[in-house]
Amino acid sequence: MKFYYKYFVILIIFILTAGNGVSSQNYLISSKHNFSQGDIIKPEKEKIMDIKELRKNKLIDIFCTLAEIPSPSGQEDKVAQKIIEILKQADIEAKQDDFGNVKAKIPATDSAKKPLLLSAHMDVIGDNSPINIKYNGQYIETDKKRTLGADDKAGVAAAINLAIEIKKNQNLKHGGLELVFTKDEEQGLSGINHIDFSDLESEYVLVLDADKLGQILVAGASYTNAVLDVTAPKGGHSGIDIADKERVNAVKLIGELINEIPQGVYKANELGVVTSINIGSVIGGGVEPCIKQISDENIKAESYIDYIAEKSMTNLINTHAKARYSIRSSELANEKELIEKIQKITENFNKKYEGLAKAEFIATPHLPAFERSNDHKLEELGAKACKAAGAEPSVTSFHAGAETHIYAHKKNKSGKTFKPYLIGCADVYNMHSSDEKINVESYLKGYEFLKKFFEMYNVNENR
Ligand SMILES: [Zn+2]
Repeated sequence: MKFYYKYFVILIIFILTAGNGVSSQNYLISSKHNFSQGDIIKPEKEKIMDIKELRKNKLIDIFCTLAEIPSPSGQEDKVAQKIIEILKQADIEAKQDDFGNVKAKIPATDSAKKPLLLSAHMDVIGDNSPINIKYNGQYIETDKKRTLGADDKAGVAAAINLAIEIKKNQNLKHGGLELVFTKDEEQGLSGINHIDFSDLESEYVLVLDADKLGQILVAGASYTNAVLDVTAPKGGHSGIDIADKERVNAVKLIGELINEIPQGVYKANELGVVTSINIGSVIGGGVEPCIKQISDENIKAESYIDYIAEKSMTNLINTHAKARYSIRSSELANEKELIEKIQKITENFNKKYEGLAKAEFIATPHLPAFERSNDHKLEELGAKACKAAGAEPSVTSFHAGAETHIYAHKKNKSGKTFKPYLIGCADVYNMHSSDEKINVESYLKGYEFLKKFFEMYNVNENR
């Protein structure tokens, strides 16, 4: 199926130009161009190609079939059933676990080779409203009334279609393909956290959930919540007590600390940002009576910040203030270094204000980091496969969370820690919004990338 993509573009151009007397020679020439802007493209109204025609491509059809089933986080059962049905039609063993995730497997045709795991999530941002799919000659999108769900059904469909092709191709010598389709990635990562990893044999995992074709993301940041707490118990009246040097103001002091604590990028390297820290909120002083009033009287305000700032008390020396931070890092040791540095800052503060005020900085891990593996074989193989598919690989880290982070801390059936990669097999734009769209040309190329990845994995890496 090496020239599959090219044939598909030719087919599209054939459809676009059918009846206009353009010779087959021209189809080949224009197949190098983006087909919505090619030299032989007809006037605007003829550019719109029927989605039905596009769905003659099996990958696109599976994608549209799944995208048309609403699957907000926690309500993925219908799409899970459809996935199992499609796989079973191709004689591929697939089933739902107790939590509702789907697992499928194609056994090895060569037991000397190692299996590969593809993973994607079934839930999408959005509700149960219908998904009316449109195609504008370049992008698949909705009627703009809701999300398309290419995040992550593009990944799910690519994995399914690859499995079907592998299953059909009896001559291909491979070490097996495992598929995991999870629930609730978007809201709570509860699906991946309920996976039983002990029956998965693969060591390498391709999580098909990046939004740019050719992305091979080899590390991802942790997410740690942290709270800075300052208490200055004496307090007092802002007039009568103001001259008393023993009465320090917690809000003033938290400002002093915030000023010393780093903000923004803490460390970066050639792959991007390694560690960052961001203050999310700071609160303190005479705000409590006003917040209580909002709650008790169910007060609606256009801006609660404005409302509270206007109504907060000013006639007291504040006793308590807090700030909330997030820390993200793809290097555990560097995150630890940052937290220790901040704790040192608070220690020095506590010495300075001993007996008057006390500060504490408490960090609570929310998502562990996905650190880059020392084994770079699969990164290199992925980059080669991507180039072979005619796309540009981009091996980087990413400064956010994904299911890769969970895999990176779990062990497979033989006790080996998974080596996950976050892979982009299409250009998806405006994810999580009603303008979400997927570029068809990039998706077809992304699918070739994935296919070549699997083929090369079973040739090069499995001796
Ligand atoms: Zn996603």
